[in-house]
Amino acid sequence: AQQFLWPIIRLGDVVDDYERAKAAGSRVQAVLAREPAVRDRPDARPLAVTEGAVTYDDVRFAYSGETVLSDVDFAIEGGATVGVVGPTGAGKSTLLKLLPRLYDIDDGAIRIDGQDVRDVTLRSLRRSIGYVSQEPFLFFGTVRENIRYGTFDATDDDVERAARRAQAHGFIENLPDGYETRVGERGVKLSGGQRQRLALARTMLKDPAILVLDEATSAVDTETEALIQDRLAEFAADRTTFVIAHRLSTVRTADRILVLDDGQVVEDGTHEGLLETDGLYANFWRVQTGDLASLPREFLERALR
Ligand code: ADP
Repeated sequence: AQQFLWPIIRLGDVVDDYERAKAAGSRVQAVLAREPAVRDRPDARPLAVTEGAVTYDDVRFAYSGETVLSDVDFAIEGGATVGVVGPTGAGKSTLLKLLPRLYDIDDGAIRIDGQDVRDVTLRSLRRSIGYVSQEPFLFFGTVRENIRYGTFDATDDDVERAARRAQAHGFIENLPDGYETRVGERGVKLSGGQRQRLALARTMLKDPAILVLDEATSAVDTETEALIQDRLAEFAADRTTFVIAHRLSTVRTADRILVLDDGQVVEDGTHEGLLETDGLYANFWRVQTGDLASLPREFLERALR
C-alpha cells in the first residue's frame, strides 16, 4: 500500500498549488495532510555555520507512519569524520537525509552549530551540505553547467579549479568540446569514474561546510576509486564529514563510528573501541576480514534469517 502512495506524493511535490491538489481528490489531500511539505518558516534565518558541529537530540522519524529511526541521540564536533554503518535497511541513508531536511522529523531536534534545521532557510541549509553519492546525478547540459549546478555565481575559472582538484580537468579537455561538451542522453557518454569526478568537482565548487558521502556499492574500477577516495579524503579533512560506509575499511580511520541497527544507534565509538566492545561492529569486521570462524552463533543465525 505504501508503494502505491508514492506517485501521489510526488504529485504533491509538483502541484504546489493547494487548490489544485484539493481538486485532484480527497485521496491526495489525505496524503498531503500526512506528509506536510518541508518549507521555510516565516521567520526563518540563514544558517550561520561556525564550527560545523552537528547534534541529533532524541530524534524520531517515520515514513508515513512507519517508524524507521528512534531515540537517535549524538553530538559530533565540527570538523570530525563520522562513519555510519549498519545492515541494509537500518536507516543510514534516512539518518542523513534528515540533515538537509529532505524530510522533517517527528520528534526531537537536529541542530547545526546550535541552530535547529527547521529554523533556518532551506536555501542556506542545503547550500551548507554537500552530498556525494556513487551514482552521481548529471543532467542534459554541458560539462560546465553540470559542475556549476548549485553554485551559479561561480566563474569559469572557479569551475576549472574545482575540476582540477577533482582530477577531472584532464579528461574534460580531451572531450570534443571541452567544458562545452554536452553530456547526458543525447550527448557524450561518460564512464562511471568520469561522472563521479564531475560530481566531485561540483561539490568541491560548492565548498560546503558539511559533507555527506554515500558510499553505495560502486561500479567504478578500483584505480579510479582509489583516486577519488584520495581526493575526497583531502577535501573532507577540514570539514564535518559523514560517510555512509558499506566497506568498513573506509571508516576504519574515522574519528567516530555510529553503528545503526533497526533505526537505532546501537554502538558509537572508534574502530578500536568498537572492536573491544565486541558487538555488532566487531562481527561485521569479522565478516569483512574473512574471520568467519569466530563469528558468534546468534550473529550467523540473524544474518541467515
Ligand atoms: P539503509 O541506508 O541503512 O539501508 P534506509 O535509510 O535506506 O536504510 O531505510 C531504512 C528503512 O526505511 C527501510 O526499512 C526502508 O525500507 C525504509 N525507507 C527508506 N526510504 C523510504 C521511503 N522513501 N519511503 C518509505 N520507506 C522508506
